[in-house]
Amino acid sequence: MDVQNVDLTISAVEAKQYPNTRFPEIAFVGRSNVGKSSLTNVLINRKGYARTSSQPGKTQTLNFYNIEDKLFFVDVPGYGYAKTSKANREKWGKMIEKYLTEREQLRGVITLVDGRHAPTNDDVSMHEWLKYYGIEILTVATKMDKIAKGKWNKQESLIRKTLNLDANEKLISFSALTKQGKTEIWQWIEGRMHQ
Ligand code: GDP
Repeated sequence: MDVQNVDLTISAVEAKQYPNTRFPEIAFVGRSNVGKSSLTNVLINRKGYARTSSQPGKTQTLNFYNIEDKLFFVDVPGYGYAKTSKANREKWGKMIEKYLTEREQLRGVITLVDGRHAPTNDDVSMHEWLKYYGIEILTVATKMDKIAKGKWNKQESLIRKTLNLDANEKLISFSALTKQGKTEIWQWIEGRMHQ
């Protein structure tokens, strides 16, 4: 999709604030600092629109971005935060869990892992959890420009193995610098929109 118009419709702290539309929604999840805002900005052809979180764990809202009045990108706050209180974390968890498991408009979840390393235990748990609920998942390995091309296959195998990806589960390598992977990610999103 060639995106011109994007609008942050709502930073929701509770379900009744979610947009009252039938547009398909694609959620983005990943640990803080994994490159979620950078990926979103590349997908929507903007620089610095989706906020870049310098403070891990600060964002506590579900951010709904209206894309061309056709779909919403839903930015889910990064998991694995050290800085937030236990009570906050539990509250966050419940809202996100409910959103991901009950939202009718949700067509799929893009889960981000840092392409430079093996997925963490948090990444593995998140993937297992989404799979358990039968949610459509696309895994994206970020920051791949930091890995030499000759090592991509090995790194992709490590990620697939650690996350226990089946042969039919997709993993796309992405770089916000080179925009490698952008077209494939959009193809997956567009495929999900018409489900
Ligand atoms: P978020 O917290 O998940 O939204 O992560 P950000 O998008 O804010 O990125 C965290 C840091 O990683 C920032 O310093 C980004 O510039 C950097 N970063 C994100 N994506 C890439 C990428 O594809 N390549 C490189 N080299 N750096 C990246």
